[in-house]
Amino acid sequence: MKFGTKVIHGGITHDPATGAIMTPIYQTSTYVQKSPGDHKGFEYSRSRNPTRSMLESNLASIENGKYGMCFGSGLAAIDAVMKLLKPGDEVISTGDLYGGTYRIFTKIFEDFGLRFHFVDMSDFSKLDSLVTPKTKLIWVETPTNPMLNIIDIEAASSFAKKNNCLLGVDNTFASPFLQNPLDMGADIVMHSATKYLGGHSDLIMGALVVNDDALAERLYFIQNSSGAICGPMDSFLALRGIKTLHVRMKQHCENGRVVAEFLKSHPVVENVYWPGFEDHPNHHIAKRQMRDFGGMLSFTTVGNNYEKAKAIVSNVKVFTLAESLGGVESLCGHPASMTHAAIPKEEREKTGIVDSLIRLSVGIEDVNDLIEDLKQALEK
Ligand SMILES: *Cc1c(COP(=O)(O)O)cnc(C)c1O
Repeated sequence: MKFGTKVIHGGITHDPATGAIMTPIYQTSTYVQKSPGDHKGFEYSRSRNPTRSMLESNLASIENGKYGMCFGSGLAAIDAVMKLLKPGDEVISTGDLYGGTYRIFTKIFEDFGLRFHFVDMSDFSKLDSLVTPKTKLIWVETPTNPMLNIIDIEAASSFAKKNNCLLGVDNTFASPFLQNPLDMGADIVMHSATKYLGGHSDLIMGALVVNDDALAERLYFIQNSSGAICGPMDSFLALRGIKTLHVRMKQHCENGRVVAEFLKSHPVVENVYWPGFEDHPNHHIAKRQMRDFGGMLSFTTVGNNYEKAKAIVSNVKVFTLAESLGGVESLCGHPASMTHAAIPKEEREKTGIVDSLIRLSVGIEDVNDLIEDLKQALEK
């Protein structure tokens, strides 16, 4: 089955009770048992719920995995992955990381005795010295937020296998339309389904997809034992969102390209970070492991002025100034004053998050309106 068919039909069976073509919202906590243990496969909705189960099998299908698991948020999904580990275990992670992931690693799991190394993953041969017998997980985010660096998933997988570690990939920015980490040797693929999967900025949800039976069993155990599941209403919305993932992503990519090229040619703009440019430092990797380059990009302005960047994001009219990404509507953000304001200036500038950096999540509106809007905001 091709991707555009899988998003609509993959892993989905019509409702056995009624034949409803759309998966019903099973808004129920529990299920009738005729006699103890005599039930229809559902006992209690933390453990299993028919709406969530359908979404989980749909997600497994579109990520080319065997098992899907959904959670109350992307961070709840990451939380479940961390609970595979034990005190003393070590994790090697990308340095350029979603802020919430960095926070749960350092402010929650360090207190439980896990150790994290945040490193540049452009050359895995330089990371051998970090590995100890306690290293259990390699955590990769690609493309990264907000600098759009690309990490070679196959190289990460070889490194993980050589060192007997699991490889987890946060695939939120790419979505399964653009890349499937399990096919490149990852053990766990994670999503903030809040973003492209849901696609309509109307839910918070996380997901994991794996292939290995034992790993899936352990993660199901954690999902049920810790209980950070998502509800049936949100599961329905995610199922509905995923049905158009391929058409939305095509438009995100097409608009992303036009916006990136417009910005690159604008005299007020200094740098544009978008993996589709041939002069992007990781373009060759992006070209190999992604099917297109996506709708996320960042740029800086000439003179690197904090106030000018704030003015641009305040003057846009079609773009909306807001956190998050991946919805049908175009959003913009100013990391230095918003998502990354808590990081000291010298620290954030080391990773490229300078004062004038603006991040765009290019939506699927008519691209001419997006260009007009950016033009007037840049030139005001
Ligand atoms: C948003 C996001 C998360 C966290 O997901 P939530 O659904 O907000 O908990 C993790 N990773 C990336 C790359 C994200 O963009």
